[in-house]
Amino acid sequence: RLYNEVQELKGNIRVYCRIRPFLPGQNSKQTSIEYIGENGELVVANPFKQGKDTHRLFKFNKVFGQASTQEEVFLDTRPLIRSILDGYNVCIFAYGQTGSGKTYTMSGPSITSKEDWGVNYRALNDLFQLTQIRQNTVVYEVGVQMVEIYNEQVRDILSDGGVWNTALPNGLAVPDASMHSVRSTEDVLELMNIGLMNRTVGATALNERSSRSHCVLSVHVRGVDVETDSVLRGSLHLVDLAGSERVDRSEVTGDRLKEAQHINKSLSALGDVIFALAHKNPHVPYRNSKLTQVLQSSLGGQAKTLMFVQVNPDGDSYAETVSTLKFAERVS
Ligand code: ADP
Ligand code: MG
Repeated sequence: RLYNEVQELKGNIRVYCRIRPFLPGQNSKQTSIEYIGENGELVVANPFKQGKDTHRLFKFNKVFGQASTQEEVFLDTRPLIRSILDGYNVCIFAYGQTGSGKTYTMSGPSITSKEDWGVNYRALNDLFQLTQIRQNTVVYEVGVQMVEIYNEQVRDILSDGGVWNTALPNGLAVPDASMHSVRSTEDVLELMNIGLMNRTVGATALNERSSRSHCVLSVHVRGVDVETDSVLRGSLHLVDLAGSERVDRSEVTGDRLKEAQHINKSLSALGDVIFALAHKNPHVPYRNSKLTQVLQSSLGGQAKTLMFVQVNPDGDSYAETVSTLKFAERVS
């Protein structure tokens, strides 16, 4: 209890690490995961290298092991979600290499039953339940937007408005994406399916494209107090980031190289912004990427940020895992 309160006070940036289970066909004997501590410690090691100094220790607010359920993960996310109704802006990211479970944590597996629901459906479900409980005192309106950021272009995937701002001047806020009023979790499920379908347009394969673009689901809540008429606004941004894997520059050219450069640029811009916020630096470099511009108003200030750092336990992914954990360590 006390520990939780201390964590609460520590600041507005939290980092949870989640290790996904081995998938059929992966050799679970060759794992990079050595130890998971009760208090957020994680030790990784390269299973293909023997000897001293091969272990690395990282520390996060919490580490979810391979057996963790969607429900458990959400229980530790819920307090954040609830603060939206008190007027906070909340940003939740999933960071990690392709195949590490980002989409699983945020949305769930592709065919989703209620038990498999990821953070986004559970969060909205919870919000709707709370707004219902409070409906005699506060009247809430909930609106949803969904955009995809690919090669530094922002696309509204809930309308056919197409691509915006290929040359958005630095510093200008991104124009509003279409806002869709929702009244229930079912409404949201329906919209997200439309968004996911629109994402595939023009893409060779969904997985190909979705691993190279950022997907941002934004939920805006406006509550009007029945007695005083005062208005409270909060927002939630749920971000399934592009895969963080490093691409070997000697092996890709053309479009693939361009994509990789855009992803690198935007992920490091995100890292720089969160780092600046975590260290209370007076200058926060929001303008260096579309991703940070889109999220500018919801990162910093009264905002709360949670980053899920996703890990593939396979020993073959050791180098990527270390690079992912280092990124997370820097911002936590
Ligand atoms: P990413 O979005 O990072 O590319 P995915 O979420 O698509 O990765 O996960 C890759 C694969 O691993 C998928 O088949 C997914 O269903 C599975 N997976 C990921 N996390 C879990 C988990 N916690 N439990 C069970 N399966 C998982
Ligand atoms: Mg994914």
